[in-house]
Amino acid sequence: MNRPLQWRSFSNHAFHEASFDIRTAAQPTALPYSSLGHAETTMYTVARTSAIFRAQVTRTAATTSHLRARRHRMWSVELEKDHKFKSPSEIIDPAMIDRLLEESKEKAKDRPLVREILAKARERAQLRGVPRGEDEHEYVQGLDLADAAVLLNIDTQDPASKPILDELQATALDIKRQIYGNRIVLFAPLYLANYCVNSCTYCAFRGQNKHIGRSALTKDQLVAEVEALQKLGHRRLLVLTGEHPKYTFDQFLDALHTIKGVETKPCGKIRRLNVEIPALSVSDFRRLKATDCVGTYTLFQETYDPRVYKRYHPSGPKSDYGHRLLTMDRAQTAGIDDVGIGALFGLTDYKSEVMGLLQHAHHLDKTYHAGPHTISIPRLQPADSAPDAIAPPSPVNDDDFRKLVAVLRCAVPYTGMILSTRESADMRRELLNMGISQMSAGSKTDVGSYHKEKMQADENHTQVDGGAKSLEQFQLQDHRSVDEIIGELIGDGFLPSFCTACYRKNRTGEAFMKIAKTGKIQDFCHPNSLLTLQEYLIDYASPETRVAGEQLIDKESKTISENAQRALKRKLDKVKAGERDLFF
Ligand code: SF4
Repeated sequence: MNRPLQWRSFSNHAFHEASFDIRTAAQPTALPYSSLGHAETTMYTVARTSAIFRAQVTRTAATTSHLRARRHRMWSVELEKDHKFKSPSEIIDPAMIDRLLEESKEKAKDRPLVREILAKARERAQLRGVPRGEDEHEYVQGLDLADAAVLLNIDTQDPASKPILDELQATALDIKRQIYGNRIVLFAPLYLANYCVNSCTYCAFRGQNKHIGRSALTKDQLVAEVEALQKLGHRRLLVLTGEHPKYTFDQFLDALHTIKGVETKPCGKIRRLNVEIPALSVSDFRRLKATDCVGTYTLFQETYDPRVYKRYHPSGPKSDYGHRLLTMDRAQTAGIDDVGIGALFGLTDYKSEVMGLLQHAHHLDKTYHAGPHTISIPRLQPADSAPDAIAPPSPVNDDDFRKLVAVLRCAVPYTGMILSTRESADMRRELLNMGISQMSAGSKTDVGSYHKEKMQADENHTQVDGGAKSLEQFQLQDHRSVDEIIGELIGDGFLPSFCTACYRKNRTGEAFMKIAKTGKIQDFCHPNSLLTLQEYLIDYASPETRVAGEQLIDKESKTISENAQRALKRKLDKVKAGERDLFF
């Protein structure tokens, strides 16, 4: 009884330890409350009552050890049981989707009707005179499901459809210009580990793939990886990992702090970390939020059709359709208010997937007054030992893919749309003119590949299982460098942007939506884009890109009000004088 009891919180990778004296039941020290699980907090409270103390310690020690065991088996454990969400079937209604798509088949041949819908889409994305919906937060409503279904049913293989498809694409481009201007936000994916217990039939990282090399970045490798990305000019990363007890959520949180601390001259640190990681519980979302370094949480539903979901996700935690669908509700509940959704095109009928994305977006908008911050539209590409990636069950041809991008842009004008290097350079160039507002650049999807030479030299310290080299998650189609992409964007009249200001100015969630839906994000984004481009040109650009970029900055600076021009010039001059990370 005289021995101080050791307290351990297992909720951090490096265990927090604290001790207290049982005779006085003094508060444990150095034990951050936010890192405590439910069992530990229960223990923390009752420990003061000495009469029942021994029994509590015995019971809670067992609970804590049980919790630890669960944490080792599961990537994320829910410690808050009292949240109530809609049922998945209230959010995604496959019968309604089927009915709307069926009913609109004939309507899609009615050209005047299609033109009416396009006019409506254009009108609703107008900056002035937009009718507000019943909900005062709906500044720009986009299209409803029935209208979107009509556009989706335009037959791209009928030569007679070409003029109306051209009109659809022109409408999408106009809407994009109205809301986003000519900016294209650039980022890079950063894979931390490729261990995974799931069984997604389209992914090389799935647990059943026995001949892939499994690896996780060590801390030194992670630092080298981030330094390599910084030297390419990147300021915004999408951090990813698979779901496996060999790379836990606690390790992931540690990695975020490591990334945040890496700094290379001249431009400095990564300024926005978006994450694409397995579904989390509300309690773990709170821990993610507490890092204070995460912008958008992204998770793809992959397929919104609950009738086939299990076929592509036969086992593992991800096989639970409803739990995955409610992930964004849990994120919002925990205060992560910028969320990114997506569907993997090629698994089922693309029209149904777009309708599923729209139902999900409408649910988030209605419930949390913040629709998805981004929508991603990955299309299946071949992947090692992944049967449904090698032979996609419902392949989407290029014409339909262009159309679905344009339909999404018309239907959800306020949401950023992301395109990855899964698509070819040519296709990416085309889709920028139909609605895409963000794209990855210079991407690698195998662990450690941004600093590969160093990683090979460090072979003894690399956590690679199985002796094989790690492989990429899927085949990339666009292998251009960051500088090439920036040079081409500038040549095509786009404004490349590394801006991360909104997140750091608390313009997130509903606050961001209010600005986006009233078409005002340009007021901030345009000058901020020019500032980040100026940094890139000075610090990292090739001589050709620098010349073209300077001309672009000069031209684009003149498109804003005189007051704004003066303020921008002051900041541009400071950047040229060596200051960094300036924004409005
Ligand atoms: S898609 Fe994600 S969850 Fe599925 S096997 Fe690949 S890494 Fe694992």
